[in-house]
Formats: sequence, structure tokens, C-alpha cells
Amino acid sequence: MRILIVEDNRTIAHDLGEHLQHAGYVVDYAHDGEEADFKGFTEDYDAVILDLGLPALDGLSVLRNWREAGRTFPVLVLTARGSWQERVAGIDAGADDYVAKPFEMEEVLARLRAIIRRSRGLAAPVVRIGPLELDTRAARVLLHGRPLDLTPLEYRLLHYLAHNRNRPVPRMELMEHIYEGDDERSPNALDVLIARLRRKVGPDLIQTRRGHGYLLATEAAENNNSPDDDTAKASAGDSGHGAGE
Ligand code: CA
Repeated sequence: MRILIVEDNRTIAHDLGEHLQHAGYVVDYAHDGEEADFKGFTEDYDAVILDLGLPALDGLSVLRNWREAGRTFPVLVLTARGSWQERVAGIDAGADDYVAKPFEMEEVLARLRAIIRRSRGLAAPVVRIGPLELDTRAARVLLHGRPLDLTPLEYRLLHYLAHNRNRPVPRMELMEHIYEGDDERSPNALDVLIARLRRKVGPDLIQTRRGHGYLLATEAAENNNSPDDDTAKASAGDSGHGAGE
């Protein structure tokens, strides 16, 4: 998940960024409104944390610009403490939630997880896909109930696929959302990473869709012992389980 932090106070921005990275996010920064405006239009973020008091262009104007242009990523605004007017203006401008300054880091992280979940149609902080259980609060993964030892990069990959379950994620998109700026991000490195993760979670969970990308499918994961051929799919369809899903 790639997050944009828009905050002109560099100490706060850096502190937030460190906590987010520790929680498994990839972080970009913008330190004024114009830079934020530009990045929001040119990059594909999974969420934005937006301070409202910014030099060059204020946060509310940035947010309105994005929303008017159809940029739909979830936005958490940072408002001045006790200013209900700012909170109302932020929500009306298209914010999904707010946190008042000074804030507790844990609250920012919880609200960020919640707006990302909602934007992906997930209700609970624990995502279950077949034998996998991904706890976004603790950045922890269980496989068949047992803790799975993942590197930060493997976790980011699985987290992104889980939040995009049942949709083939193109390789370029995957790379943009899981690699830090200085990470090795060649297509070959992604192949190696995918192979490593498959060895840990089992070969069937992450499917390759030629020309479309990688897919974490809830349906296949739940039936991952059934033969993957057309006969099996056809008979499943005939028995009516496929209807209405
Ligand atoms: Ca500020």
C-alpha cells in the first residue's frame, strides 16, 4: 500500500512516515499544497494523510481539486485541535475521516486502516482468504492458524493482493504499491519475490493470469484441493453454487 503524507511540518511528517513504514506501508511525502496537488494527480495512492494548513495551496483546496477531478483515494485529514469547523469543512470537501492535532500515532494508524478497508469493501481488520488470515492491525499473517514468517516486502505484497482479492493485479501496479523508492524493482525481482511467497503460502493461492497479472482468489483458495480444470468448474456451475455470488 502506497500512502502520501502531506504535512509541511517535517518533524511530524517524518515521524508519521516512520510509523507507517514500520506498519508495512510504502510512503511518499509532499511538504506543500502544490506538491501534494501534483502528486495526487500523477500517482496512484491507496490513501492520503492530508494536513489542512499548508503553504502554497491549502489542504481543503487540494482535496476539492482531487475530488472534482474524480480522484477517489481515501483521505484522512489532520485538523487543528478543537476546530469543529475544520472537521466539517474537511468532510464536506471529500475527506473520509479526520484526526485532530496533536494526535496519537495509534489513532492515525487505526483510522488509516479503516478508510483503506472501506475503500476496498472490507468490513473487518482481519482479512481471511482460504487458509490465510491477514491481521492488518499487527501486520501479521496466519496460515492454517500458524504464524507465517514473512519479510516486510513479502508482507506488503500479500497485503496488497489481499486488499485487491479476486482482481488480477498487473505487475506494474504491484511494483508501484509495494516497493520503496530505493528498493530493487526490476520485473525479475518481482518474479523472485512471488516465487518466494508461493513457497511460503502454498503454490495455489497466488494465481498467475497471463497478460493480466497476479490474483489472490477467495473462491480458488477455499477449494484449493479441487482439480483446477474445466470439468470441475462446469460441474460446480451445474450444481448452482456459482449463482448469485
Ligand atoms: Ca501545517
